[in-house]
Amino acid sequence: MSEPLVVVGNGMAAARLVDELAKAALGRYAIAVIGDEPRLAYNRVLLSSVLAGETASHDIELRPASWWRDRGVTLKYGCVATEIDVGRREIKIANEESIGFSRLVLATGSTPLRLNVPGADLAGVHTFRDSRDVDLLLTLAAQRKRVVVVGGGLLGLEAAYGLAKAGASVTLLHLMDRLMERQLDAPAAELLKSLVERKGIRILLNGLHGKTRVEGIELTDGRRIDADAVIFAAGIRPHTALAKAAGIPVGRGIVVDDCLQTGAPDIFALGECAEHRGICYGLVEPAYEQARVLAQHLAGHAAAYNGSVVATNLKVSGVSVFSAGDFIGAEGSETIVLNDVRHGTYKKLVIADGRLIGAVLVGDVGDALWYLELIRGREPIARIRNRMMFGRLLALPSEAA
Ligand SMILES: Cc1cc2nc3c(=O)[nH]c(=O)nc-3n(C[C@H](O)[C@H](O)[C@H](O)COP(=O)(O)OP(=O)(O)OC[C@H]3O[C@@H](n4cnc5c(N)ncnc54)[C@H](O)[C@@H]3O)c2cc1C
Repeated sequence: MSEPLVVVGNGMAAARLVDELAKAALGRYAIAVIGDEPRLAYNRVLLSSVLAGETASHDIELRPASWWRDRGVTLKYGCVATEIDVGRREIKIANEESIGFSRLVLATGSTPLRLNVPGADLAGVHTFRDSRDVDLLLTLAAQRKRVVVVGGGLLGLEAAYGLAKAGASVTLLHLMDRLMERQLDAPAAELLKSLVERKGIRILLNGLHGKTRVEGIELTDGRRIDADAVIFAAGIRPHTALAKAAGIPVGRGIVVDDCLQTGAPDIFALGECAEHRGICYGLVEPAYEQARVLAQHLAGHAAAYNGSVVATNLKVSGVSVFSAGDFIGAEGSETIVLNDVRHGTYKKLVIADGRLIGAVLVGDVGDALWYLELIRGREPIARIRNRMMFGRLLALPSEAA
């Protein structure tokens, strides 16, 4: 008989886990997925495209209903898991129903942070995390509202771009002195800022500590920006409440070992809710790597997750951006830089001990994956160093031929 395996969360990590598990151990588990959101798992990354009007909401579904049915998965969507009884191996869902499990996987993702400023809970203050948020933002944009987006990381830029494209008048506020400070160095961030401003988005850096009200935002320097709505896109917090209440060890995320096992027997966690070796990843690629390892482990094969080299390869507000590894350059490293502001291109390669250890690209990201392979593979680069900046084709003409 199949063992009951319950997955909490119907996001990207959960969908990939079921996919990998169906390949690695079809029939071994009777899988049930409990998901808060009232729709089939979808590609959350593409919410930005839906907001920007480039993709239809129904086109971002990861798998059709028949795919889940064919794999015998029970889907309980629009349904919140409220309590885990670790001892009895049961999980409660909102309508008081209990589901038993032999193995449990927590894939609860993250919740968006609301800054701790007065007014943060007022009506008219929103976040950007799921498809319900996108519907709301599209309504604001259709009404040509004045919107302030708080947060100049990936999410904030995507929200600002989408809202502006859909017709809203957008101001973007960022607490730090440069955009995407976790992915970009100062020149790259400056170039991105100017490219985004060309799309009609006003950007204010280094500002917010003041009061937030639905009629506007006050900055510490006394300036006031009138607004009909405020969107917080200033970071995420792993969704750990369910695990914590069950006594499962939690740090910033749900703490897992190299098999994605939590501190409780037969309970696992993966994706944005998990903390592995002190790191909570906020990107989809590590979640997919974890899904592969966990599926192998659940199928009874030896597998270990050793962490991910994080790379960002995205279109931010319509501008291509890539960063990976140590892109700032620690002491003792060397950098090669190409900066063509007029053509909107910036490239920086960071080298240490004869190897590529980091890269930032803005504008032209055609060789991003090659640079990422070089960083991950820790290959010596002496023979290609003088041509490496100009891409794989010029650096390795014989391989390209
Ligand atoms: C607009 C946007 C753009 C993004 N762009 C990129 C990008 O370009 N590149 C990139 O790598 N990453 C991007 N990300 C991040 C990426 O989407 C996440 O890393 C990924 O979705 C994480 O998958 P997950 O399954 O861990 O979490 P999620 O996809 O958030 O899924 C978690 C699910 O669990 C549900 N849940 C939580 N608690 C419960 C409960 N108690 N009961 C039932 N269900 C529950 C939630 O409702 C949610 O549906 C973006 C995110 C957003 C919002």
